[in-house]
Amino acid sequence: MVKEHEISEEMLNLFKQVAKDYCSKFGLTDWDVRISHLKRNTGDMATLTYAHAARAANIDIDIAYDVDEDEVHMSALHEVLHLVLTDMREAYSQYLDADVVERERERFESVEHAAINRIINAFKGGRNDK
Ligand SMILES: [Zn+2]
Repeated sequence: MVKEHEISEEMLNLFKQVAKDYCSKFGLTDWDVRISHLKRNTGDMATLTYAHAARAANIDIDIAYDVDEDEVHMSALHEVLHLVLTDMREAYSQYLDADVVERERERFESVEHAAINRIINAFKGGRNDK
């Protein structure tokens, strides 16, 4: 384990605070959102998992290197936006066969990420033509 590449305690706490703030701003008060640091080294900065019926969600921070405040803000916002979109995803997924959902997973995720990136860009006040 290479210690100097781990996220600092300060950035970890900032992530948790920022994610909680965005949950509040987006009115996600009907969700029980827990934030943990699992160090699974998935390659993603963080991952959202949830039990929709129970309205229980987990944001697992998986940043295996030190990051700056801007990266922490954007990553926390990204995961909270996934949670914002969860009801929409669940609403249309229930009308699709499980094999279709699985087969089209990448396409659904790509569309969702495009929407998330548009919202994040608006938050940043900038524009991303990619
Ligand atoms: Zn994502």
